[in-house]
This record gives sequence, C-alpha cells and structure tokens, in this order.
Amino acid sequence: MTPIKAAVSHAHNTPLSVETVHIRPPGPGEVEVTLKACAICHSDIHYAEGAWGGTLPAIYGHEAAGQITAVGDGVRGLTLGDSVVVTLIRACGFCATCGSGMPVLCGTPPAYQTPLTTLDGAPIVQAMNAGAFAERVVVDPSQVVRISPDIDPVAASLLACGVITGVGAVVNAANLRAGQDVVVIGAGGVGLNAIQGARIAGARRIVAVDMTPEKLAVAKEFGATDGVLATDEKPWRAAKKAMGKGADAVIITVGAIPAFDTAAQYLGMGGKVIMVGMPHSGATSTYEPVMFAATGQGMIGSKMGDVVIARDIPWMVDLYEQGRLKLDELVSQTWPLDQINAAIADTKTGSAKRNVIVFD
Ligand SMILES: [Zn+2]
Ligand SMILES: [Zn+2]
Repeated sequence: MTPIKAAVSHAHNTPLSVETVHIRPPGPGEVEVTLKACAICHSDIHYAEGAWGGTLPAIYGHEAAGQITAVGDGVRGLTLGDSVVVTLIRACGFCATCGSGMPVLCGTPPAYQTPLTTLDGAPIVQAMNAGAFAERVVVDPSQVVRISPDIDPVAASLLACGVITGVGAVVNAANLRAGQDVVVIGAGGVGLNAIQGARIAGARRIVAVDMTPEKLAVAKEFGATDGVLATDEKPWRAAKKAMGKGADAVIITVGAIPAFDTAAQYLGMGGKVIMVGMPHSGATSTYEPVMFAATGQGMIGSKMGDVVIARDIPWMVDLYEQGRLKLDELVSQTWPLDQINAAIADTKTGSAKRNVIVFD
C-alpha cells in the first residue's frame, strides 16, 4: 500500500475532499501510472453532483497523462518510465466487438478490484475506470497508450477524452471524406474538437451552431468556416445557404433535446447525424421517420469518438506536434490538486476550455 494524495467524493453535491488514501501496487496484468496532469471533464462534475448515481466514496478523474512507475506480471509492451495517456476505455481485446475495431463498446472488459482504500482500509470506488484525481492510478494496460516523452503532459491529458470524442466523431463515426460539408451543433469542449476533426479531414464547409456570437468566434479559431446562431428562427436555413446544400454530416455535441429534434433538418441527401451529446436518462426526441427512407439519411450514436486509442492517440500527438491539432488553446488554466474545487467551480461557468490539475 502506498499513501497518495487524492480528491475524494464522500457525498454527492459537496466539495471533494483532498486527503491521503492508499493505493495498492499493480497486480498481474495491471500497470501503475504516476500522474503529471488530469483534466476536469463535465462528466466528472455530473458524477460528483450525483446526476448519474454511483457508490461512494469515489475518486473521479479520467483524462490523465503521466509515467509508468510499476508494471504487474504478464504486461507486455509497456515498461517503467514510459510516458502515457490514461483513458477510461477498458477493453478485453478478444471479444467480437473489440475484434471488429470497436473496443469502446467492449462488453467483457477485464474485471478488477478497486486499487484504492481509505487509510482505514475501506474500499474507494475507482470511478470511470481511472480515479485520476489522484497522484497515482493502477489501471488495465488496455486503457493506456504510450506517447513521446517530449509532449507536455497537460496537452497530452486532453487526448484521453474530449479530443478523441470530438475528432473521432468526424473521422471515425461520420467517416468524413475530403470535400464533404459538416455542421457541428455546440462549440463547447467536444464541439471544438469535432470542428478540428472536420478541418483535419479536409471538410469543405464547417458550420458551427451555438447560442452566442462569442462561441461562434471561438469556433472559427478552431476551423469553422461559418457560424450560425442556434437562436435564429430555423437556423438550418442559414447553414444550408453557407454550404450551398445540406450537410453530409451533422455532429450533435450537446445534450439539449431541441438539438436532437432538429439536427436532421441540416442534412443533405444521404447525410448522417452523429449523436455524441448525452441528454439526461429518460429524455426523448421526435423525428419524422418517412424522411430517412426517402433521403438515405440516418442518425447514429458515437461513444468516445469510436476511438481505437492505440491507433488514434499517437496520430493526434503527431498532428499536435505538427501544429495541425490545437491542444494548448483548449486549456483555460492549470491548478494544483489542493485547489480542485475552485477548478471545478470555474469549469461550471460554462467555458468550453479545460481546467487541468497538475501534480508535482
Ligand atoms: Zn471526459
Ligand atoms: Zn472486448
């Protein structure tokens, strides 16, 4: 058992408690990563507020980067000192879903016992498979990707969630080809990355749709060619005017139901809506099914950008090094773990940018 500092949730909707907990060494088939950075995602906040339930006490945090500091028996391909990104995507690698290239949907991920306990020995939930609001994590090697040690860990941490979800929605889920037109609904943390993904994929027009001119201005910094206010009456008209036709792909990156009800209005013949945003459980959306058969259109969901982390994260690191993927620009501020509650409060102000916890 090693004592580490971590931010623990003892009760939903109360500040996290920064305290000392115990983490056990990695067992067979596990690795320990000493973290350098962990970004705060809105999912962490939803969990901390109790929106999605979950057992307590728990440690959240799932967008992390650090260095391998212990390797369990039987782990191949990772060694002490490797710089890595830590994700929540835990996959067996052997089931039919993993074999078909969709490890994010693995139905039989490796079982594990939480490595975390209180100083009294009571178990602490390792939330979202990571528990990365802590100085160290013990995780399954499938969650980890080795990256160049030269990459700033603050930038690298962003690759664990928001960036792969947004870029992946465009290049993997929509399978966008160069020259196609894209509409991105919501220019927030995921939306800005969907916009970057569309630019990288060679989209012709990239239309951002959001509620304020300020958000649309930021969208253009990330590669949007056009911006449309969602508050306009029938905003798809302005979007279609900008594209000259309907979109080949519409990416919904928000959880608001009106976005789901109207997304298909932006589509052209054969176009697809990719649903990435997550409304509350039980919320429903309405659409006109006759339209889909007549137009070859469709709506599909995408989890974590349909990412294959071993393939996509090293690619994105390359893009970042070449100046083609913006990561530093996504960071609002860095904070020590002691100030995590202030960092969470700042994140809740609605900024699209990420606050990142850095460890000494
Ligand atoms: Zn996340
Ligand atoms: Zn699997």
